[in-house]
Amino acid sequence: MGHEVIEPGATLGMLGSGQLGRMFAIAARRLGYRVHVLSPDRDSPTGQVADLEVTAAYEDLEAVAQFARGVSVVTYEFENVPAPTALEAARHAPLRPGGHVLEVTQQRVREKSFLRDAGIPVTPFWPVDSRADLDAALTTSGFPAVLKTAGGGYDGKGQALLRSMADVEAQWPAFEGIESILEAFIDFTCEVSVVGARGLDGTFVSYGPIQNSHANHILDISFVPAAVDARVATEAVEIARAVLEELDVVGVLCVELFVTRDGRVLVNELAPRPHNSGHLTIDAYVTCQFEQQVRAVCGLPLGAAEALRPAAMANLLGELWANGEPRWDRALELSDVKLHLYGKAAARPGRKMGHLTALGGTPEAAVARVLEARSVLPRPS
Ligand code: AMP
Repeated sequence: MGHEVIEPGATLGMLGSGQLGRMFAIAARRLGYRVHVLSPDRDSPTGQVADLEVTAAYEDLEAVAQFARGVSVVTYEFENVPAPTALEAARHAPLRPGGHVLEVTQQRVREKSFLRDAGIPVTPFWPVDSRADLDAALTTSGFPAVLKTAGGGYDGKGQALLRSMADVEAQWPAFEGIESILEAFIDFTCEVSVVGARGLDGTFVSYGPIQNSHANHILDISFVPAAVDARVATEAVEIARAVLEELDVVGVLCVELFVTRDGRVLVNELAPRPHNSGHLTIDAYVTCQFEQQVRAVCGLPLGAAEALRPAAMANLLGELWANGEPRWDRALELSDVKLHLYGKAAARPGRKMGHLTALGGTPEAAVARVLEARSVLPRPS
């Protein structure tokens, strides 16, 4: 293949210890790798299935250096890895995707500017560093518009929908002094994502588009194939290919997209790692997004990203635990439904605790089946 392959048996390093790291570690172990994980947590979702769990602050560069020296490659499962941490890791082991990918994707203004400059269609946006910036941006955007903090937000945190000047007055104090971005409100028909993988040799494969629906700004249901026409599907995949190529990604990156009423496809945001919407690839595709991440960061050939059947995924959030441990036995009575739990001890509302996947003859049937399985879980109050 013209470059060094990190062979099965080697040790892979994961920064971050949530469910994405856990599913990476499971895929890596299946391929015969060892996995070390570093995060500030103990007995974490990833640590429970890793060969070594290092508990250290990301800012502890001595611990990061020691960690990176002990592995053949370092990857990550979230985009808010601090820049000095990424730099330190990269001094001792290949960091894949590279630090430049983190730099672009961890700040919304940089991310959207990169997309615009690369000629990739993106939600119209205006950087906002002051109230004057916001007022000026609103004269162009009009109402409604969406104000977001530029860094650190996820699952709708640090976002405000502005419908009028009254909303601006009410919401601005929470953004004052914080680097922010104003976005045009997109009247979308649907939201889709494309999870792409790119190898060390530049090979690209993708899943999708996957169609997503959110509840309270958190992903709720994903299904494939998305209910979009062939042109939209092709455009979504070509956008993802362009993003991975422009960013020279080695690994997995998810592109979240809006499909507008007039059939345009616009990027909402990027996630430089496997994505919640891609969890259905574990049960419904020849190669899942996590195995693809292993293959890509190890310089191996990518796997076939072919769908076996239409499929749907439903997230299991902490509120399902309101009256105690959910009735797993009842969901599993639907014997074709697959249950994935992340090993998290505390079930807080909104926290992603696990997911269910169902296959079906059609995406509608798969969605109905996964919703049926989820509906039997809660204990009555
Ligand atoms: P984000 O954290 O940027 O992915 O936003 C979370 C969710 O909020 C998205 O998946 C959309 O459902 C909604 N949203 C975010 N930005 C916009 C926008 N500019 N226009 C319409 N809806 C949006």
